[in-house]
Amino acid sequence: MKTAEIVSVGTELLLGQIIDTHAPVMAQILAECGIGCQRRSTIGDNFNRLTDALRESLSRADVLVTIGGLGPTMDDLTRDAIAAALGDSLVRDEAYEAELRAWFASRNYEFAESNAKQADRPESGVTIKNPFGTAPGLLCQKNGKVVIALPGPKGEFVPMAQGPVREFLETLGGGVIHSRVLRVIGIGESMVEQMLEELMDAENPTVAPYAHTGEVHLRVTARAKTKAEANVLIDPVEAQIRSILGDHLYGTDDTTLEESLLRVLESKGQTVAVAESMTGGQLAGRLTAVPGASKVFIGGWVTYTVSMKENALGIPGDLISEHGPVSAAVAEQMAIAARIRSGATFGIAITGNAGPTADVDGKPVGLVFISTSTQTGTKVEELKLRGTREDIQRRATQTALSLLLDVAKVL
Ligand code: ATP
Repeated sequence: MKTAEIVSVGTELLLGQIIDTHAPVMAQILAECGIGCQRRSTIGDNFNRLTDALRESLSRADVLVTIGGLGPTMDDLTRDAIAAALGDSLVRDEAYEAELRAWFASRNYEFAESNAKQADRPESGVTIKNPFGTAPGLLCQKNGKVVIALPGPKGEFVPMAQGPVREFLETLGGGVIHSRVLRVIGIGESMVEQMLEELMDAENPTVAPYAHTGEVHLRVTARAKTKAEANVLIDPVEAQIRSILGDHLYGTDDTTLEESLLRVLESKGQTVAVAESMTGGQLAGRLTAVPGASKVFIGGWVTYTVSMKENALGIPGDLISEHGPVSAAVAEQMAIAARIRSGATFGIAITGNAGPTADVDGKPVGLVFISTSTQTGTKVEELKLRGTREDIQRRATQTALSLLLDVAKVL
């Protein structure tokens, strides 16, 4: 299998002023073309460091892709560094320089002489047309190595990467690396790994777990000639994982937990309403983000203060004073009220303390109660979550969706 490295160029990337969104796009294209991306690095606008980095990458990989630094200004050094790393001199494409000058003239822009360097290319290279900018890309082939250089602006990078560059890489790679993501809830990453121990050493497909907020993603990746052949290798592994993890596996690829939940509820003709305190509407937000949610999600209440819990949901003040707003008793009453007042088949409620300090009630940060209510009964779960306020809110929402899915499945 051919290997690749990606070098993103730009001091603003190193300073954290912009986020490298292009390298992942490129990595995915390489994978889809059957080329294994083995390293990604970021280098500032410094000629020596950039040239060194490119030389190193070329000593390891068959294909090197650079992103950024192709423009006309002093700090755009990628073209020069590629030439130096390949031991090439730069040659000027006179025809393209004339085209550039004409382009500026036709718009009455003054032509700064530095613009002409965009018509330079290393002698072993050809240019890749840039339909949306003035800096063309480069494709150099020398001593069995390939170097591809693409400009940084998104509107230029993406069409070039997804167009001519992908086309070229497809002929080079001669295969695909295809992944399927299996989404798992209700068990942690190390437990998943333990349960799937015998699959973890497999080579094709490989199976690797990744922890996300409140869920684990298993990436099953196969190498094959075509995507269809890769899927044939992945299918039996997915079946095996399903038989081991059972209901913990709720979806594949981009299927979110809320989508799966809404699908299950819809298939059973069920509806849901929410009553939220510490998540401030996040649960409702995630449900309504799914197109077609209105078939299942009726609506809900954000009752943040004690008086709202009393006035909007009718929770007795005595009950709140006795147990505190962060309590199993209040969560239960909120879920029941949401169900009965909305006429939904399910009510779900979240109350808790997201921090960063203990609340007036003295309830510790991260203490959360989630209640699900149906006509046949009401359940409540107590959670002790860790993390920032934002983490606790997200984890509570995620757990609420996952608890509701559990209840919905057995109905
Ligand atoms: P230009 O002709 O605009 O100078 P260039 O190829 O020299 O193009 P850069 O100057 O390196 O590109 O970057 C231009 C802009 O493109 C950056 O300011 C940034 O907004 C964006 N950009 C560059 N590299 C990346 C990246 N890896 N991920 C996301 N955005 C990027």
